[in-house]
Amino acid sequence: MKPGRRQFLKLGLSASAALFPRIARGQPAARVVVVGGGFAGASCARALRQLDPRIGVTLVEANPTFTACPFSNAVIAGLRELSAQQFGYARVAADGIAVARATATAVDPAARSVTLADGARLPYDRLVLAPGIDIRWGALPGYDEAAAREMPHAWKAGDQTLLLRQQLEAMPDGGLVVISAPANPFRCPPGPYERASLVAHYLKTNKPRSKLIVLDAKDAFSKQRLFQAAWAELYPGLLEWVPLSKGGNVTSVEPATRTLVTDFARHRAAVANVIPPQKAGHIAEAAGVADKTGWCPIDPITFESAREPGIHVIGDAAIAGAMPKSAFAANAQAKVCAAAIAKLLAGVTPSVPKLINTCYSLVAPDYGISIAGVYAPAGGQLADVPGSGGVSPATAPRATRAAEAALAEAWFGTVTGEVFG
Ligand SMILES: Cc1cc2nc3c(=O)[nH]c(=O)nc-3n(C[C@H](O)[C@H](O)[C@H](O)COP(=O)(O)OP(=O)(O)OC[C@H]3O[C@@H](n4cnc5c(N)ncnc54)[C@H](O)[C@@H]3O)c2cc1C
Repeated sequence: MKPGRRQFLKLGLSASAALFPRIARGQPAARVVVVGGGFAGASCARALRQLDPRIGVTLVEANPTFTACPFSNAVIAGLRELSAQQFGYARVAADGIAVARATATAVDPAARSVTLADGARLPYDRLVLAPGIDIRWGALPGYDEAAAREMPHAWKAGDQTLLLRQQLEAMPDGGLVVISAPANPFRCPPGPYERASLVAHYLKTNKPRSKLIVLDAKDAFSKQRLFQAAWAELYPGLLEWVPLSKGGNVTSVEPATRTLVTDFARHRAAVANVIPPQKAGHIAEAAGVADKTGWCPIDPITFESAREPGIHVIGDAAIAGAMPKSAFAANAQAKVCAAAIAKLLAGVTPSVPKLINTCYSLVAPDYGISIAGVYAPAGGQLADVPGSGGVSPATAPRATRAAEAALAEAWFGTVTGEVFG
């Protein structure tokens, strides 16, 4: 069956030209379908075309515009506009990639085809799933899609980001803001603490009589010592972190009153940001590549699913061992996966990769910190390469922190330029 004509017409392409850009010069050497046009998927699609222009690549993406999460905490704090987070797919399409604006709803691994929401089917020789995350609705009692309109998660950038910002702006000075952080694993391990920092910055500069409590389902978190030292310096008395062992685990929420309930207390917030438990994007489960954890086990050399041959999973959806779920990691995995697919299609054994990740966080607009790591396959997983990586120094002049904040911004410009520019 042919793919949805409407999706291609929206892009001004005929269905056949869109699906098989090189058809006039012969059939593509192989067909790769990539589902999800984020940091992982769009990057993988482009890398595949660069590695072997004979491969016919189709990128299936549900939205016409991608809204990036990195730096979305700055949008919430009023330091940046959402438009600075948004990117289109024109340059991706200009690489000869058929961009299908559609939601993939099912995968038939035996027939090697992906079904789109309108019923169209895309055949593939290799499939890459890069759907990011979905919220585990219902895993936190009381937290469903309706509750997210009262107590936004803002863990997928877009309307939720703006809703949380608007709630902070509407809150009177002296209000209580509560952020709840989930247990591992979840998208962007330092993200809740960067968010707490920038919300604290907003409160300090705009509503100084207010208070921020972070309720945490963990006792430890990424870059913890650096964050806590900066909080003591920048936001004393304003920001309180409550770990699991001190009653931080949120057991239910009551959206009507914006109340977060723990085993020990009830916190009635003026603004409540609930960062809920997560899982791989729904299509991963539909394709049979997610395990009972909700995430997708992969081969650390090729990112091929451990459950379904011919399907690769990259980015937040994958279980990538020691590698965190970050845009930096998603982009690195995309290139490794593309190289492996190009080799597999050519009948060549893929090389053993080394991958790098760096996560920057802003503690204030001019105060950045980072953590870096290097990863390689070991014992069937991606493991830390001993002696590599590290975090920003525990003590450093403010000029160093400002330089790291500038590096964070530079990284964002580079990665979004590479993926979408
Ligand atoms: C507040 C916050 C701050 C962050 N800060 C940083 C940071 O500073 N640095 C960093 O490296 N990372 C950061 N991250 C993490 C980063 O956003 C993610 O790790 C990254 O987006 C993962 O990329 P991905 O491609 O796997 O998923 P995504 O970027 O979410 O892309 C998935 C895409 O797939 C599409 N999709 C999903 N399902 C389907 C389907 N069935 N059919 C069609 N399309 C589909 C979606 O529309 C989406 O475009 C942050 C995250 C948050 C929440």
